[in-house]
Amino acid sequence: MTRTITFVHGAATHTGQLRRVNQDAFGVGDGVFVVADGLGGHNAGEVASALAVEAVLAGTADGVEGPEQFGNAVGAANRAVFDASQQDTGLHGMGTTVTAIVALPGPGGRVAVANVGDSRTSLYRAGDFIRVTKDHSRVQEMIDAGEISPDDEWGHPYGNVLTRAVGLEPHVEVDVYVITAEPRDRFLLCSDGLIDEVREEDIAEALWRHRDPQECADRLVDMANEAGGHDNITVIVVDVLAGDAA
Ligand code: MG
Repeated sequence: MTRTITFVHGAATHTGQLRRVNQDAFGVGDGVFVVADGLGGHNAGEVASALAVEAVLAGTADGVEGPEQFGNAVGAANRAVFDASQQDTGLHGMGTTVTAIVALPGPGGRVAVANVGDSRTSLYRAGDFIRVTKDHSRVQEMIDAGEISPDDEWGHPYGNVLTRAVGLEPHVEVDVYVITAEPRDRFLLCSDGLIDEVREEDIAEALWRHRDPQECADRLVDMANEAGGHDNITVIVVDVLAGDAA
């Protein structure tokens, strides 16, 4: 079944103002978008993020039947990064976040969203900024446990402590969400280099202001750099041109 949904997108990545290497990676396939933020010492982070993006694109190159297959593609990326880390001591312990979206076949304009780690996919719909993915982070656990309020998330000292990542273990649990997309929906995939620098209301304002997705992606990266650019920054803005509303 062919899909009934069409995307246009803009993407941008930047090393930021303090880091010497960009360990983020992104990829774009046919109806598939991926952001990965590598972790690990030396060059391993950039190896992990690049491998993961490559594996997700390979696993979705012929399209996906449904959300389970999309989750499996991210699971295969996990295995690819883990196996590579076992074969080279210089890469040992590397890992990466992954967030990705794919258009599902069939009527209804469904989109699957996958996530491991603290890169995020959000949805801007009719003026509302909606987080789709839930971070796998210590801070998110503390919020869930009621130890801190969501308002305390910004700048929290445990902000970068992950509880789940791709490539650290032979298997990983992948969260997969399904969204029924509507025309004029705008998805935002980004690494924490944007989230930690620019407040959500300012991100939402930029998503509203810059209609062209490439212009919007470039502007969001600029905003993160203007705010300090402490980390690598990666952004993909994906616009839904047509769902199955007709
Ligand atoms: Mg980062």
